[in-house]
Amino acid sequence: MSDRYARQVLFYGIGEQGQKKLTEKTAGLVGCGALGCTSANLLVRSGLKCLKIIDRDYIEESNLQRQSLFDEEDISKNLPKAVAAQRKLQKVNSRVQIDAVVADINASNIEPLLENADIIIDGTDNFETRFLINDYCVKRGIPWIYGACIGSIGLAMNIVPSKTPCLRCMLDTIPLSGTIETCDTEGIIAPIASMIASIQVAEALKILTDNYETLSKGLLKIDLWRNEIKSLHTDDIREKSDCVTCKQHKYEFLTKDKYSITTSLCGRNSVQVLHPNGYKLDLKKLATRLERVGDITSNKFMLRIKIDKYELTVFPDGRAIITGTNDASVAKGLYAKYIGM
Ligand SMILES: [Zn+2]
Repeated sequence: MSDRYARQVLFYGIGEQGQKKLTEKTAGLVGCGALGCTSANLLVRSGLKCLKIIDRDYIEESNLQRQSLFDEEDISKNLPKAVAAQRKLQKVNSRVQIDAVVADINASNIEPLLENADIIIDGTDNFETRFLINDYCVKRGIPWIYGACIGSIGLAMNIVPSKTPCLRCMLDTIPLSGTIETCDTEGIIAPIASMIASIQVAEALKILTDNYETLSKGLLKIDLWRNEIKSLHTDDIREKSDCVTCKQHKYEFLTKDKYSITTSLCGRNSVQVLHPNGYKLDLKKLATRLERVGDITSNKFMLRIKIDKYELTVFPDGRAIITGTNDASVAKGLYAKYIGM
């Protein structure tokens, strides 16, 4: 073992054996925003075998306050978050295989995207994706670590299938207050995101090194502004529930008709449109086709065109984020007109 991990190996909870286990493990990170940036950074430095970073978005100026892997140059280069994160972290640790996936994770692609993951870290900002992750993880018996933040409040919870309550058990019994609003409407301070992501990664390290007995139990809730730390007991929730997911084994979010072609991106005056059949787009050809329609900027990861009051950002997987409207039908109309369904 080289010097790189010396301090971590020295730590009683990990040791040489734990470090060896880490170097054989793959983690899937879904969402590379405020939580995801911190998680990715800590995970790559810890020396996994592979980190798969899945994110559908590009970087905006308002992200820089809390999304610690990104800078102004990434914005000027129009880099997707997953790609910018991969480039930064590959310089930190060239031994870890870092896969950047610029995609919207949904029922049609979650299984191939997360196939080899030993653990999933939640860096998402919405419950639809979390329920999808929950279904996938319960079905496959893969642990995942829920995390969410808003304002100065953060939540974290380990979900170990068949051992702890799953997200569906929880939401049928405890309303996770403070998480229904979004950062785009309520704001957020950066320290709570770093803190929750740090807790998620600490828990991930325990799981990946088989230290299950030391896992945090229950739902942790921290409010950094009001100086409150609480742990809500969840011991008997699973026993008492007749959970659709982890008791009845019905994986509703993994069935394809559950996901929608359009998703309104909360608080951003934007709608994401997916191509109904999945689709590989040739961005160069599209640029040629649209050059007389509006101003285009593009690179190999995306093409952006301004048309009237709208801005369409199109990705090679056929997906588009349409800014300037919250109306799904307007967004779909623009997509059909300029990209083609
Ligand atoms: Zn459950």
